Amino acid sequence: MTTPDDLHLATLLSAAFGDAGGTVTPPIYQTSLYTFDTYQAFEDRLNGRTSDPLYSRIQNPTVSAFESVMAKAERGEAAVGFASGMAAISSTLLAFLKPGDRIAVTEHVYSDAYRLFEQLLRPFGIDITYHAVSALENDPSLLKGVKIAYLETANSLMLQPANLPKIAANAKAHGTITITDNSWASPVFQQPLTHGIDIVLHSASKYISGHSDTVAGVVVASDALIGTIRQLTLPLLGAKLAPFEAWLLVRGLRTLDARMRQHQATAELFIDRLATRPEVIRLHSPGANSVPGLAGRSGLLSIELAENVDIPRLADALKLFRLGVSWGGFESLILPIRAGLGRAGDDNAAWRFDVPHNLVRLSLGLENADDLWTDFEAALNAGKA
Ligand SMILES: *Cc1c(COP(=O)(O)O)cnc(C)c1O
Repeated sequence: MTTPDDLHLATLLSAAFGDAGGTVTPPIYQTSLYTFDTYQAFEDRLNGRTSDPLYSRIQNPTVSAFESVMAKAERGEAAVGFASGMAAISSTLLAFLKPGDRIAVTEHVYSDAYRLFEQLLRPFGIDITYHAVSALENDPSLLKGVKIAYLETANSLMLQPANLPKIAANAKAHGTITITDNSWASPVFQQPLTHGIDIVLHSASKYISGHSDTVAGVVVASDALIGTIRQLTLPLLGAKLAPFEAWLLVRGLRTLDARMRQHQATAELFIDRLATRPEVIRLHSPGANSVPGLAGRSGLLSIELAENVDIPRLADALKLFRLGVSWGGFESLILPIRAGLGRAGDDNAAWRFDVPHNLVRLSLGLENADDLWTDFEAALNAGKA
């Protein structure tokens, strides 16, 4: 007999939820609190003998619907939603860290995660060290005395993937908790918990939503680890996911598998054609099996262009790609790194990690792939000095 857990992800994401009334989408429980019929029922809930919803900072049925499917999608025991990816990151770290602890972080970590580490956590007495992905993979002694290893795979801008089974094994030897940001691959192409990683988190604003209409985050792990977050940082920092946002994320999850496969097909067309262009010096887009457990590539890739390409002119010549931060939506975007380099300083991750100034990041959307290539090729030609 097949249990729901045996189903392919696309089936699982399509079949989940609905409610007792036979609806195919979950109702939006737009309520702050839940009342109780009897004194006894109220007392039982307040004393933890029952677990019915009490107050929406802690628990909401629409949010729970999203969380339960995310837990299944990432093959974890439990999940907790947050108001943003940054809320997911900060609430996860603060649930486990205390002054004097050390975090080992992958290089090219997301820019605001970097600022969280340097501007908020370091002043509270947390030590942070940054390491090349290959060092985290190959030097187990790096994690000695480290409380948390914080990874992104692929990491931001340079899109370097990480060998998760290897790093997880290194971490286990030292009792280090491993956290991986899986926003880039999504559970369609990578399920870090199945490779020994302890906690997986997402900026759900990206592929999980897929529609560029929501800012949200989610964390998936064991019951025990999620329990700690639910007990400490979810209620006490209070950055909870709102019911309407959770409903939008459920809507996004329905098409996640199909969207990721379309993003991948377009990325592959771009990679084939970019390979023929002399303006392209280097391409960053890890594909299936480039590291163990990675089953595909998403639509977010980076390109280093030759010095003689006029990047502002290229960007302005694009008609289908729009200039913008963020990624993972239906629409194609370009982010030229040099546009954000005006603000030099220690808080700018692009400077800190020495990102090449001629790098442009593309988020390939769901438009027709040939239309997108025609647009990009014309802009490459326009950008030639
Ligand atoms: C966007 C992003 C975040 C932050 O998520 P928000 O939802 O914007 O708070 C975290 N990690 C990565 C890799 C991201 O790209």
